[in-house]
Amino acid sequence: MQEIFYFGAGPAALPGPVLAKIRQEFLDYRGSGLSVVELPHRGEAFLEIRDTAEALLRELLQVPDDYAVLFMHGGATSQFSMLPLNFLGPGRLADYVHTGHWSLKASAEAKRLADIREIHALRQGESLRIAPQHEWSLSPNATYVHYCDNETVNGIAFPGVPDVHRGLLACDMTSSILMRPLEVDRFAIIYAGTQKNLGIAGLCVVIIRKDLLDATNERVPRLYDYRRCARERSLVNTPPVFAIYVLQGMLDWVKGQGGVHAMHERSQRRSALLYQAIDASRLYTNRVADEFRSKINIPFEIQDAGLHEVFVREAEQNRLFGLRGHSSTGGIRASLYNAMPDAGVEHLVEFMCNFEAGFGASPIKR
Ligand code: PMP
Repeated sequence: MQEIFYFGAGPAALPGPVLAKIRQEFLDYRGSGLSVVELPHRGEAFLEIRDTAEALLRELLQVPDDYAVLFMHGGATSQFSMLPLNFLGPGRLADYVHTGHWSLKASAEAKRLADIREIHALRQGESLRIAPQHEWSLSPNATYVHYCDNETVNGIAFPGVPDVHRGLLACDMTSSILMRPLEVDRFAIIYAGTQKNLGIAGLCVVIIRKDLLDATNERVPRLYDYRRCARERSLVNTPPVFAIYVLQGMLDWVKGQGGVHAMHERSQRRSALLYQAIDASRLYTNRVADEFRSKINIPFEIQDAGLHEVFVREAEQNRLFGLRGHSSTGGIRASLYNAMPDAGVEHLVEFMCNFEAGFGASPIKR
């Protein structure tokens, strides 16, 4: 079978060696005679998987001891509800910074459940950019400030961590976790759905400062209760055992590749290659200002929108899959998570040049 390259935004491509290990252990987990998906969730073998996953995550992201690592159900969207349910209520308010699709979804859910303030921080002039922090006017009494590190749909990312007191920052890192070193102690809570850089869908990794566990509301649904989840070491009920197992495999793989510094270096290199190709072309356009360009999800457009479908179809004929933009935006989007090999981006860039050459007679870039 010829190798294909998959640029889907999530569920995303998994590295070949991780898939191979899953295949091997799927039918017989380490001589137990049981499939990995049949292991009892309170049995020794699964507890070791959970503990190894937590230890690897702590090691790779240098998570300090005063932070708990939780494995929770329901993907990242569940956190949109969990944050307000745990921390907001009468007399409490949170700030939600809007920079695109997912930060908007987070605040729309929080608004249903509690009082929040929405801060519109996306500026759409010549190019798309995030407003400087002095324009945000954060609430002096906010319980937390929520933002999305990397907007998966719009391809807009924060160049660094906002300068907000560490007691307050709640960050959705679903599409960016494990792609660069992190200063975890600048955050109150970090969460990430796992179907991009951490494996498969259905699980959410939460890193939360332990003292906040004492500040949660009393009446929170059991499965949504951070305090209970920490106390029971993520075994409030049957956890998504397979997703946690795949997470462990992904973390092991990242460690073997040189850890988050190596991932960061690769991510810089790969994204630079693609942006160079876009900027040098007369056909493709990316509207995000340099400083805020995502290194991970790279959307671009062809002005003649009718060509998007042609591009996607021809890309597939060239072994390049998952390039159709999000349904809300259209266009093209290439997602370059940790599992994407350099060869995938090189092949995409070559295809883009050839595709453009086919339309070379008409300079149609804005
Ligand atoms: N936040 C971000 C930044 C995302 O990219 C996604 C999924 N694409 C979500 C939240 C929602 O994740 P889930 O489908 O796991 O709920």
